[in-house]
This record gives sequence, C-alpha cells and structure tokens, in this order.
Amino acid sequence: MIETKVLLIDRLHKAIKNNFMKLYYQPQIILVGNRLEFVGVEALIRWHDIDYGMISPGNFIPIAENSGLIGPLCEWVLHEAIRQLKRWESDEYKKKWRISLNVSYKQFEKENFLPMIESIMGKYNINPEKLRLELTESLLIKNTKETLNKVHDLKALGLTLSIDDFGTGDSSLSYLKQLPIDELKIDQSFIRDLTSDQNDVIIVKTIISIGQKFGLDVIAEGVETEKQYEKLVLMGCNHFQGYLFGRPVEPLYL
Ligand code: C2E
Ligand code: CA
Ligand code: CA
Repeated sequence: MIETKVLLIDRLHKAIKNNFMKLYYQPQIILVGNRLEFVGVEALIRWHDIDYGMISPGNFIPIAENSGLIGPLCEWVLHEAIRQLKRWESDEYKKKWRISLNVSYKQFEKENFLPMIESIMGKYNINPEKLRLELTESLLIKNTKETLNKVHDLKALGLTLSIDDFGTGDSSLSYLKQLPIDELKIDQSFIRDLTSDQNDVIIVKTIISIGQKFGLDVIAEGVETEKQYEKLVLMGCNHFQGYLFGRPVEPLYL
C-alpha cells in the first residue's frame, strides 16, 4: 500500500463509518464420540476497499490500534456479531452456535471497554454465553490488578473467554489459576508441522494436558490436513478450526 499513513487512517475511518467492513466467520468444530459437530464460529474482520479490494486484518488492525480507530472498529464488530447471533436465534440448526471475537489489547486496556460491551449486550438481549472473547497471552500476562478485575468483570457479564495464540507468549502460566478462562487456543504455528516436527508434538501435548488439568476446552487452530486432524485426535484434542473444516466466509455461506 503506497498511500501515506494519514490518508490510510482517513480511508479506514470512512470505511468504518460507511460500513465497508465485513465480518467473516470460520467454523469451529467439536468431536463428540465419532461425530463432528459445529459449535460456533470465529469472527474475522475484512475490509472491502473500492480501490484496493479486500484488505486483510493483519494490514489494518495495527493502523487502527495506533490511530484511535480500534475503539469504533471494536464497537462495530461487537454490534455486527451480536446482530448475527440474534439472526441465528430463529434458525433451528444455528441457534446454539457461539461467536468468538478477537479483542485487541489496545481496546481491552481502555476504560470504556466493559461499559461498551455491557451497553451493546443490553440492547440485543442475547445469551451472553454465546459470545466468547479471544484474549491474547501478552494481554493477560501483565497480570495487574486492573487486568484481573477486568477479566473477572467480563466473566461476570456471562461471556466466555479464550486465550488466543496460546503457547507463543511468555512462559509464565501462573495467570491461568487466577483467571476464569474457558478455552485455550493452540497457536497455528504449532499445528503446521505437527506431523513432522517432534518439538511441536511435545508442545501441543503439553498444552492439551494443561487444558485438561484446568478443565478447559482446548481448540487447535490452523488445522489444514487430515493427518494433522488425526494426530490431534490421538493426542486428546477435540475442538478444531482450520481450512480442513472451512475457511472464513460470509454468513450466507455457512
Ligand atoms: P487470529 O485471531 O490468530 O486468526 C487466525 C488467522 O488464521 C485468521 O487470519 C484466519 O483466517 C487464519 N486461518 C484460519 N484457519 C487457517 C488455516 O487452516 N491455515 C492458515 N494458514 N490460516 C488459517 P485473518 O483472518 O487474516 O486474521 C489475522 C489476525 O487479525 C487474527 O489472527 C486476529 O489477530 C486479527 N483479527 C481478525 N479479526 C479481528 C477483529 O475483529 N478484531 C481484532 N482486534 N483483531 C482481528
Ligand atoms: Ca483469534
Ligand atoms: Ca490465533
């Protein structure tokens, strides 16, 4: 992208205001006995720009984070996801699905984060358990009183919580016992070479075992092949997400 940063920020600002953003959804699957069931989706934002086409979040989330636009973006995502949950309520098959949302640490740290969630949830009257927030390890590792309180407050609202990219952050696990977490999400970098790299096998086994001991769901992300899936099943993992099960798509295609 050749535009100056200022122009890009302005373009992003207009895109949020004019609804050029889209939420795509990627299936999350659970293995029950020998049956695979759909449990929910992860919402992944996309920006459809008139000139540049589709811009992936890796390219604009950092810009949003550093320009104050992450607030409006996060608010838009929340509204959109909750409206989607509401639409699914009248669908016999989809009404049990939950939506996992990515939370930027820049947004999490803001004072208005919790009031914003509370106010949007209040508007739509959905079952809060259907909303799962994906927080990163780096955000939680700070372990300050403020972080702890905020995570507990989120949980008190009835939301469920996941730790995204688990295993890539600091190695301190002490925060796990203090936080009301529901799920660990094994980072896709450990899944990629799972069938060839013994170190990844050890890491993934360890994460699954930590999750089981703490009574948490453990989901593997970035599962692309049958072989990776089969290996994960043998290791005791029963939640999956990745191209093998479906790419992120517009809700129409789910
Ligand atoms: P993430 O949360 O770790 O999301 C997983 C990324 O892996 C997504 O990229 C997804 O499309 C991709 N992916 C899923 N399955 C596979 C697979 O089998 N193989 C491979 N190679 N990749 C797979 P995406 O959609 O480009 O998102 C990138 C990152 O942008 C996300 O990483 C997340 O950190 C951030 N992001 C996305 N949507 C939002 C949002 O609404 N809010 C915030 N704050 N961040 C978001
Ligand atoms: Ca995520
Ligand atoms: Ca991730």
